[in-house]
Amino acid sequence: MFEGTDRIWMDGEFVDFEDAQTHVLTHALHYGTGVFEGVRCYDTEQGPAIFRWEEHLDRLYKSAKPYDLDIEFSKDELTEATTELIETEGFESCYIRPIVYYGFDSLGVSPKDCPTKTTIAAWPWGAYLGEEALEEGVDVMVSSWRKHASSQIPTNIKTTGLYVNSMLAGEEARRNGYTEAIVLNKEGNVAEGPGENIFMVRDGEIYTPGLAESILEGITRNTAITLAEEMGYTVHEEATISRGELYTADELFFTGTAAEVTPIRSVDDNEIGEGTKGPVTDELQSAFFDVIESGDREEWFHYV
Ligand code: PMP
Repeated sequence: MFEGTDRIWMDGEFVDFEDAQTHVLTHALHYGTGVFEGVRCYDTEQGPAIFRWEEHLDRLYKSAKPYDLDIEFSKDELTEATTELIETEGFESCYIRPIVYYGFDSLGVSPKDCPTKTTIAAWPWGAYLGEEALEEGVDVMVSSWRKHASSQIPTNIKTTGLYVNSMLAGEEARRNGYTEAIVLNKEGNVAEGPGENIFMVRDGEIYTPGLAESILEGITRNTAITLAEEMGYTVHEEATISRGELYTADELFFTGTAAEVTPIRSVDDNEIGEGTKGPVTDELQSAFFDVIESGDREEWFHYV
């Protein structure tokens, strides 16, 4: 039973955990018509600070757009609600989950008379794929499920319905004894993980699939690219990566708000590099956690 928080912010007010309910005929429950974010607040040397909050908020509003979800709150109001939630719950670090979705009016596929509901929850959440994964790396399999093409549904933004594909891929991997999946796109090239972007290191240069490959425009992806370039690496951020290149990569790693920077040590039982965290991944992961721990890169933090 989830016991991570006492209160949840719903449509302008804080409500007790037990009372944070929605109707069973909610449009989004039936049709996946919600958009959401996953954000982390870190316990930095400057105190609790939300990592890349502005970028996450921007993506939430962008995600809402194609679905005509009219968020009834301003970015400032959502910021205030989130910081108050973190403060009153007394969290030093936590995961934050804003979600905006079509509520109940009628159950036609058209949501035209459905209200837009906005909710923000926060709770403590450690390493997504486990502490050991950050050090040792994870064993992954290429899923038999393909990612939606961006001609079928917008893949660059964060829609609840998209995660049925992520769930299928991730559970298939776990049923087969792996920690996580890699999902190929419709063309058979590498897209991303079920909840992560993917990077490859080859001959000292870094490659990651571009938006045209059906990936979410990840904020940690952007953080990793920025840090890697600052460290002097060449980053190819519009790469097309074949399945074979995965197996022969020098290093592979995932990035994501939940997964942070997680090394991949094998794909389909093929050892990647030395089968452990590679040197470039290690350097980048250290740079990432240095930023997080110090909290002094002001443009990337919203201090609570
Ligand atoms: N791809 C997918 C499918 C995801 O769910 C996530 C997690 N939000 C990511 C990539 C990584 O994105 P971010 O770094 O913004 O968390």
